[in-house]
Amino acid sequence: MSRQKIAAGNWKMNLDLEEGLQLARTISHMEIPMDVNVILGIPYVYLKSALDMLLHVPRVDVAAQNCHQAESGAFTGEVSASMLESISCPYVIIGHSERRMYFGEDSKILAEKVDKALEHDLRVIFCCGESLQTRKAGEQNSYVTQQLKESLSHLSQKQMKSIIIAYEPIWAIGTGETASPEQAQEMHLEIRNHLRESFGDEVADQMEILYGGSVKAANAKSIFGQDDVDGGLVGGASLDAEQFQTIIKSFS
Ligand code: PEP
Repeated sequence: MSRQKIAAGNWKMNLDLEEGLQLARTISHMEIPMDVNVILGIPYVYLKSALDMLLHVPRVDVAAQNCHQAESGAFTGEVSASMLESISCPYVIIGHSERRMYFGEDSKILAEKVDKALEHDLRVIFCCGESLQTRKAGEQNSYVTQQLKESLSHLSQKQMKSIIIAYEPIWAIGTGETASPEQAQEMHLEIRNHLRESFGDEVADQMEILYGGSVKAANAKSIFGQDDVDGGLVGGASLDAEQFQTIIKSFS
């Protein structure tokens, strides 16, 4: 089975109901190449409305941006994986650096979130990535593989097939600074080699690894053209329909 090409958008905490549904509607009318899958990371409040709107649109799916690690209970303000399953949400983003940084989500919590999401048949977009300080120290490879070990190494080969990795260097997120295509390829290969050692050839060859960090219409093609880059997780540029359309068409 070959890997999918994925253009994922992360809307973060942007857009109101009307703006969000308008963007989803515009994307639903876009020309999406047959071999590309689009996943939209949508705020909880209009996740269900977007799902309903996109129900019969081929190759466009929806992701939640987070879920809680507990099954249910007294966690005011939180949303569970079972709630996402109950609205047939197919994907959830887990471990975004903003969740790690601003909400104290460490590797142990993220491992629990991954388990809970998989228990509820959600596919997980699992984010990892190093800070500028770590990269300057030349420790980015060991840092990122350690993140993967801490949150994913307990999974079975079968479970790993429900995971998509998003490599997102923190220094490139929302900064306008992008990893060069060579830097992205180097890390993606490192990640794939780690997956190969830990889970074997089949998992390593089948798992999609996305790049995230200031992907734009102007740089998507060169990044997506790298052998081990299977697409992107796009923040800012995914809010701009025209740019996102170009990004969707940037696979060769
Ligand atoms: C992101 O939010 O995951 C991201 C990569 O953001 P941006 O594309 O804006 O850097």
